[in-house]
Amino acid sequence: MELKEINTVAVLGAGNMGHGIAEVVAMAGYDVNMRDIKDEFVQNGYEQIEWSLNKLAENDQLSEEEAEAALERVTPLVDMEEACGDADVVIEAVPEQMEIKEDVYTELEEVAPERTIFATNTSSLSITDLAEFTERPEQFCGMHFFNPPVRMDLVEVISGAESDEETLDVIEDLADDIGKAPVRVHKDSPGFIVNRILVPLMNEACWLVSDDEATLEEVDSTTKYDMGLPMGSFELADLTGIDVGYHVLDYMNDVLGEAYEPSPLFVEKVENEELGKKTGKGFYDYEDGEGAQIPTDQQSDLVKARLIATMANEVAKLIGNDVAPPESIDEATKLGAGFPDGPAKMADEFGLETALETLEEAYEETGHERYAPADYLEERAEEGGFYEQDDDDGATEFEVIRVEYPADYVGHIVLDRPHRMNTISDDLLVELSEAIDLLEDDDEIRSILITGEGDKAFSAGADVQSMAGSGADPIEGQELSRLGQQTFGKIEACDLPVVAGIDGFCLGGGMELSMCADLRVASDRSEFGQPELDLGLLPGWGGTQRLKHIVGEGRAKEIIFTAERYEAETMAEYGFVNEVVDNDDLLERALELATNLAGGPPIAQKFTKRAFLAGRHDTEAGLEYEASAFGHLMATDDLMEGITAFMGDGEPEFEGK
Ligand code: NAD
Repeated sequence: MELKEINTVAVLGAGNMGHGIAEVVAMAGYDVNMRDIKDEFVQNGYEQIEWSLNKLAENDQLSEEEAEAALERVTPLVDMEEACGDADVVIEAVPEQMEIKEDVYTELEEVAPERTIFATNTSSLSITDLAEFTERPEQFCGMHFFNPPVRMDLVEVISGAESDEETLDVIEDLADDIGKAPVRVHKDSPGFIVNRILVPLMNEACWLVSDDEATLEEVDSTTKYDMGLPMGSFELADLTGIDVGYHVLDYMNDVLGEAYEPSPLFVEKVENEELGKKTGKGFYDYEDGEGAQIPTDQQSDLVKARLIATMANEVAKLIGNDVAPPESIDEATKLGAGFPDGPAKMADEFGLETALETLEEAYEETGHERYAPADYLEERAEEGGFYEQDDDDGATEFEVIRVEYPADYVGHIVLDRPHRMNTISDDLLVELSEAIDLLEDDDEIRSILITGEGDKAFSAGADVQSMAGSGADPIEGQELSRLGQQTFGKIEACDLPVVAGIDGFCLGGGMELSMCADLRVASDRSEFGQPELDLGLLPGWGGTQRLKHIVGEGRAKEIIFTAERYEAETMAEYGFVNEVVDNDDLLERALELATNLAGGPPIAQKFTKRAFLAGRHDTEAGLEYEASAFGHLMATDDLMEGITAFMGDGEPEFEGK
């Protein structure tokens, strides 16, 4: 089956996950039959979809018409045959119990057409075992959404032992088509990717406390303010439900052995039914106490080393057993758990050698299997990291851009295709992404400047010629948009401040690239515009989203709908360009701005960027992030440096500590 043959999707279960999955699938234009065992359950799910669609419309994420149309595509049903008798894909989201799932698949097999693909949303059961309840294990796979499906982009697409490639491809295409980011899990292994990282991490956090090696406060202070994860380990467990993690761990313990033995503290919480926020008490007390109050200054090197080593070991087991490569592990964990960096990258930055030593020492001390290092970890520690290291001289080869180092602490990316107006090709997107990684990983770099070679264009847009290869195929077109979105998203989310120095045309994709910078300085002769609508397209690299955050929705619509050219001065009035300078002064001034930013406090700059992003769709989340980052900054040396310099009238020398 191919994506274009999918018209009707049946979702089994209208609970927490089922109704959310039905909603996102209907929003993408598919007919959805949502089935539960009782009319009241299915009606309840339907009402939740209606509520959620209205919310999206209220927040302008959908139009009223789109919301109504999506709801109309959902049919609530109780009869299995009516729901699945003509479904092309069935997504199962019934309770996480083998017996219930067995009954459901037996009943489903009787009514579903031969062509139908079955996908299960299970979090912890074996895909291979579930497939055995059907007569079509090759047309069966995992399609693991995250809660809530409307907001979480990640979908793990998991192969069972017998799933065939075509099935996995079409489910991956479907996930993509409903606006999600699929990550392939090549083997049916407990916890798949995200839970395989998070749950042992949680368990290790508990072991550290159970074994009196650290306090709960130290663990959470380290997780949140040193490792930079979005929440403390215990704070996260309380939010997701301690029993949920325990259930997955217990299963890992059964299948993978004693390395996954639940720690006494974990067991105690489950036995006492202190399961987190939902029961009023978990690791923190939400009823009589103040909930998770995490100190900003109780970080512990031991905690950090153990937690990172634990994740590194899980990453090594996943890669070593061909479950997924490091890129997929990192992408899934970033999307599914909100990690700013994935665990493979974090481990590489920490040093795999040190992570390995941490495990070896702890193994010798305790003899506990959880510290037994995976063979593959030893192998990669010798190579220097999970990711391939650069050549000896550390130089990465670029062809369509250049990376230069014009001043202390400034990395300069030059778009280097002047003969083609610095237009953006696939290659350029890939190299840009690599350059951002290179500069972000470089301790000697504290700000980034982006300019275009020559005086004709910063960038005149997408390289239409190189993209013509994508033809009229909507899937390829979507992939192209995604590739650009990912690269541009990376520039926007990069921890270093970014300055765009614009001289000449800054059009289409080029203007979208400049939107990802923190500051824009332009020469007087520069011209701006989003011409896509004139071509029957739309800005596909974030332009429909980012522009409105800079100039407001009114101006953004004006620029996109009119598809007109704008002068630099006008764009300065609109607030898009921070500063207009004489043509000959552009490079000098842009470099000056980048140099000034490079002298700023790196940690405070990083947190400021993250707070802006965190608050973009959810001011509360942004304020929350801002408050915790503020707390963290209070404990930095940079703050002392800044205050001392301020009092004494000197220039501060920030060290990023
Ligand atoms: P839930 O209890 O909220 O919903 C399950 C629904 O299935 C209920 O409405 C129930 O009435 C219905 N049901 C029971 N038997 C059925 C049958 N025979 N046919 C159709 N419906 C039936 O559970 P949930 O949290 O939505 O979880 C569903 C699945 O999704 C589980 O496999 C779970 O592991 C997985 N999952 C859950 C989460 C999460 O955070 N809740 C995240 C990812 C995956």
